[in-house]
Amino acid sequence: MDSRTSRNLVQIDANFDLKLAQLAVHHLLNSEDICIFAQDLKNGTSAFGSHGAEKIYGYSSEEFRNDPLLWKKLIHSEDVSIADKVSLTDPPPIRTEYRIIRKDGQVRWVANSLYPQLDDKGRPISLTGITIDITKYQQRLRSMAFTDFLTQLPNRHQFDEDISTALNEALEYDDQTAIIYVDFDGFKRFNDKYGHQFGDDVLRHIAKLLREFENVRTRIYRLSGDEFAFIVRHVSDIDEVRKLAEGLLSKFRASIEIAKTPLEIRCSIGVALYPDHGGDVATLLRNADVAMYSAKEEGGHRYREYSERIQTMDEKARLVEWLRKGVTDQEFELHYQPKIDTLTGKVRGAEALIRWRSKEHQRVVPPNEFIPLAEESGLIRDIGTWVLETACQQNKMWQDSGFPPLCMCVNVSMVQLEDPEFLDVVQRVLKNTGLDPQYLELEVTESVLVKNMERTSFIIDQLMSLGIRTAVDDFGVGYSSFHYLAHLHVKTLKLDRSFVQDLTTSPSVARIVPAIIQMAHALHMKVVAEGVEQKEQLDILKGIQCDQVQGFLFSRPQTQEKFQEYLLDAHEERFNIITSAVQ
Ligand code: C2E
Ligand code: CA
Ligand code: CA
Repeated sequence: MDSRTSRNLVQIDANFDLKLAQLAVHHLLNSEDICIFAQDLKNGTSAFGSHGAEKIYGYSSEEFRNDPLLWKKLIHSEDVSIADKVSLTDPPPIRTEYRIIRKDGQVRWVANSLYPQLDDKGRPISLTGITIDITKYQQRLRSMAFTDFLTQLPNRHQFDEDISTALNEALEYDDQTAIIYVDFDGFKRFNDKYGHQFGDDVLRHIAKLLREFENVRTRIYRLSGDEFAFIVRHVSDIDEVRKLAEGLLSKFRASIEIAKTPLEIRCSIGVALYPDHGGDVATLLRNADVAMYSAKEEGGHRYREYSERIQTMDEKARLVEWLRKGVTDQEFELHYQPKIDTLTGKVRGAEALIRWRSKEHQRVVPPNEFIPLAEESGLIRDIGTWVLETACQQNKMWQDSGFPPLCMCVNVSMVQLEDPEFLDVVQRVLKNTGLDPQYLELEVTESVLVKNMERTSFIIDQLMSLGIRTAVDDFGVGYSSFHYLAHLHVKTLKLDRSFVQDLTTSPSVARIVPAIIQMAHALHMKVVAEGVEQKEQLDILKGIQCDQVQGFLFSRPQTQEKFQEYLLDAHEERFNIITSAVQ
């Protein structure tokens, strides 16, 4: 190249050594990963003007000359749209990056800078540009994105990619893949005690130790913080995985010295095997996690394989935790359902029914879903006391604001009744709220009454001496026996919804219910029919002297405000409309 051309081409400083400039251009033209090109858009010819074109694409300059659109044909099919989007009227340089497929089939990444020349109408007539092979940089970027900086282990992204591949392989070869989650117990204390720098050293050391367990089928990943995982491919025998887990535990059993500080590093390990413990990536990961948490809960520094039993235990533990949080965060509220005098239509009382507005569940959880768990975990004592306090306080407030006095019915569970402090709690609540005991009724289910007759009989009598009445709830579901009722001082019998439901359809139920009511009356008990939904049911109940009714026909359980509106509303008139419509 003569010096004039190079001066024009690169517009070098007049004082610059021309020899040096020539050298620079020479290197550019001979570079292996850069090439310059030109294209005449009018007659469709193109030329790759430097040695690099052949190196990058694997095609000679002659081949490019013979096929002016060859460069386009070499673009990776997934990246064609990138080249298609280019508008040559955009201000130069126009930059693109895409993959190409070389003559030998290798994939390369290239970056282009395009400089179109436009005619006086602004239409592109020719094009010059530079192409650079950036494969190396792309690979480095990719490896940075897939490597954990601190430990240099492959990271979560790599794990996600590899586990999918491993499962596909296992499916294809009809064998198993194992995930081994390793979580270090109480790792936070290293950071807290010795600082983050030290914590990082510990993690690096841990990574080094974990690497020792790698082989052609086993790879270790750092997922986050102190959480690591192995993927073991082509597992033919679970014993192989167990040995690895045991090996890990014994490796970390001995104390480890880091920066002259001896440390006790302990880990909990969870194992899940594809396909037995999960047929897809998400299930398998969740179950390995569940197994790991189970190992932690059992005291740590052990390994657990996933099993159905662990799953139910874990779910239960989580729900109890949520429930406990619900108690501290006061996520409960009471709804009230009226109890109505069958003859007059007047509201006689209200049943308080608990609702759990759970943040974790993100919905209102009905009592049947959580009361059994609250009983099992003992949380029902706190919950029950709160229900009692809130219901009594509410009742007193209604009375103080001039509503006719109502009887507030509160459900009490077995666990509460068995609690030696139960009577004290009830007394304290009445004292604190100032509610007259005659306006409180405690509902106990038939099954609870029967279970421990001696104890319940004692409690009922104690409650009675305090002026508080007791009702037998869900009568008819279980024993339906008057024998025990005759011995208990229960004041109210709540006829279960199932009886009310069958009242209009089953002739035998239609015969039994009046008999139950008569017997209850003979024992000086009042009868409340639950779950009244139809006018026909109300009509029958009225005819057989059932004292009170409760059900969706009158009102669903509702918030305190709504219940208050209901009391203010002309509910008696509504009741009369309902009943007269039946007659
Ligand atoms: P329960 O004591 O038998 O309460 C009556 C249930 O029947 C309530 O369900 C109520 O909403 C529903 N119900 C009322 N009228 C009708 C109707 O016409 N049709 C139908 N299909 N259902 C009707 P909820 O509120 O879901 O309560 C379920 C159970 O949870 C209660 O049964 C009670 O055993 C328990 N429970 C509720 N609140 C508490 C509480 O504060 N403490 C305790 N220990 N248990 C509670
Ligand atoms: Ca009840
Ligand atoms: Ca009931």
